[in-house]
Amino acid sequence: MGKKYAAVVLSAGKGTRMNSQVPKQYLMLEEQPILCYSLRAFQQSMVEEIILVCGEEDLSYCRSEIVEKYDFTKVAAIIPGGKERYHSVCYGLQELAQLPKQPDYVMIHDGARPFVDQEIIARCAQAVEQGQSCVAGMPVKDTIKIADEHRFAIDTPKRSLVWQVQTPQVFAFPLILQAYQELLKSEQNGNHVSVTDDAMVLETVMNKQVRLVEGSYKNIKITTPEDLEIARVFLKEKSK
Ligand code: C5P
Repeated sequence: MGKKYAAVVLSAGKGTRMNSQVPKQYLMLEEQPILCYSLRAFQQSMVEEIILVCGEEDLSYCRSEIVEKYDFTKVAAIIPGGKERYHSVCYGLQELAQLPKQPDYVMIHDGARPFVDQEIIARCAQAVEQGQSCVAGMPVKDTIKIADEHRFAIDTPKRSLVWQVQTPQVFAFPLILQAYQELLKSEQNGNHVSVTDDAMVLETVMNKQVRLVEGSYKNIKITTPEDLEIARVFLKEKSK
């Protein structure tokens, strides 16, 4: 029997580093909002259901101007996100838990990463079926320095072992749901939470190792205006 895949696509960030009135994931890339490219990759994949998590104020925009307009038939729900990325992820997972048939695996993806493709999704699927969890990433090209609070370099990790992490981050659904629920419980109990990706939740809450899978150097997250320029170049190449 084939395993059931779902995706949580995150679009509830404000994108303050873009200096734009419109959150970065809704900016136009050629003719379409950036978010459409991310959603289309999952619409065209083995994923059966997509939960789109967006800002409360963008729910109706996402429904009419994205999901209905571009016919993303796999979007099963559009729900409001939370203050931090990890809140948005947790709400998405809780929504999936309410489906009549829960997925075996879930792909968590930043809506602001429009260049995820079928090859990356397939590599992640293969790895998660072997080991329960994996994240897309690429080895860094630059030397990385760890700095102290006075901006002095205090460590230089071995470059071949340093990866920049991307999304999708893919997990056995019950495992990641449990990890996120425990994380939020711990926060409600007054503990300080500081997580910037999903693998970190599994590493810290469940003490599990997460496998790194080859993503792509093109699988960038649109964060600042120069990323948008790079994205336009990538898209032009793709359409050649
Ligand atoms: O802020 P950052 O660039 O790390 O956000 C990564 C992704 O997470 C973006 O697609 C953003 O829309 C999403 N996000 C979210 N909820 C938040 C913050 C970020 O869904 N509270």
